[in-house]
Amino acid sequence: MFISKNLNINKKGNLEIGNVDTIDLVNEYKTPLYVMDEDVIRENCRSFKASIEKYYGDGLVCYASKTFCCKEMCRIINDEGLGLDISSGGELHTAMSVNFPPEKLVFHGNNKTEQELKLALDYGVGRIVVDNFDELSLLTRLANEMNKTANIMLRIKPGVDANTHNFIMTGQIDSKFGLALETGEAFAAAKLAIESDNINLRGFHCHIGSQIFDIEPFALAAKVMLLFTAKVKNELDYEIHDLNLGGGFGIRYTLDQEQKPNEAYMERVSEVVKDKCKQLDIRLPFILLEPGRSIAGPAGITLYKVGSVKKIPDVRTYVSVDGGMTDNPRYALYGAKYEMLLANKANLPKEREVTVAGKCCESGDLLGENVKIQEVETGDILAVLATGAYNYSMASNYNRIPRAAVVMVSKGKARTIVKRESYDDLIRNDV
Ligand SMILES: *Cc1c(COP(=O)(O)O)cnc(C)c1O
Repeated sequence: MFISKNLNINKKGNLEIGNVDTIDLVNEYKTPLYVMDEDVIRENCRSFKASIEKYYGDGLVCYASKTFCCKEMCRIINDEGLGLDISSGGELHTAMSVNFPPEKLVFHGNNKTEQELKLALDYGVGRIVVDNFDELSLLTRLANEMNKTANIMLRIKPGVDANTHNFIMTGQIDSKFGLALETGEAFAAAKLAIESDNINLRGFHCHIGSQIFDIEPFALAAKVMLLFTAKVKNELDYEIHDLNLGGGFGIRYTLDQEQKPNEAYMERVSEVVKDKCKQLDIRLPFILLEPGRSIAGPAGITLYKVGSVKKIPDVRTYVSVDGGMTDNPRYALYGAKYEMLLANKANLPKEREVTVAGKCCESGDLLGENVKIQEVETGDILAVLATGAYNYSMASNYNRIPRAAVVMVSKGKARTIVKRESYDDLIRNDV
């Protein structure tokens, strides 16, 4: 009945996550509250890692930290032997604060600043993914000045339409990310990188979008990238080592969605890569994958307290909670749908259709419309499921609302991994 198997209902009729009663969590840690299940995170790390070993051979799974990043998450990812995909100086700083191995960092971004690139060179980041010509020349100059070698990959637009929501689509020609193949831009950048001193071109990268359920776009992107690899080998006499196929694997947000097992992607993509390499006479690349949502997303839920319940006859019922777009902006941004239920009435049937609103001064501050939940009243605890990705990491202090705490559960126990912000935290940097 639930979208993920780590959730269940206990004898009291309360929702449990990782064998911890969510109502106990609310009593101890207050609301709104993000809850992450450590065992689900670790299981997802292991299944992606195992899929490369089982179906392919050499590779590295790099967790996309933008989905959910904090010190404890970086520690867990390192503990599981994964690499980390970062896209800002702040994520780099978080990773280095827990001694993440810099050679296993992959640094993305279409506009990394000079300061961020210097930091990356200083720390010895293993792979800087260069997005454009301006960045390539800036990085070459910095590496020269600092007398370092920059290990880079080039971000390529494979032009694959992954058929997802427009706002989160990348990899097409009209995208702010990467170098286009069809205009010759990618080839020219590869040539320049190979010829540049202090630059070590390790390979190519693509990321075709997010929340993609279909496997074929990944297989197609891999083919396109290998054709380009062969062209570079044949025309520039340079054979790359790494092929980074990005992330974007879809997860189950609602009961009508079917999620593929994490292993399914490499099972299919390995076949394509092996065939294509043989056919093109290029060596098998070291494969990198960058799952984000599919590692953190299913592990998390958010708990809120229901405040006002406003029935507008013949229109709708607004159920307002003590959070909203400040802790989860995804419905306001792009209409993202979530499964919800009342955690203290989890054993009752979902008989009400409501609109769940946040507490911000914005009409668009909604968490969902036409959502089915149990018969609701003030004081109930609303659980929103599969909020482990792109929630805490997208949170804001709009209306000067302090950010919620993050609690990690594992095997019946809970611990705080990010403290709740206080009102004083809000004014800390005010002058
Ligand atoms: C966002 C992003 C990812 C992760 O995407 P998910 O959909 O969360 O798996 C991986 N690689 C790059 C370059 C990204 O920008």
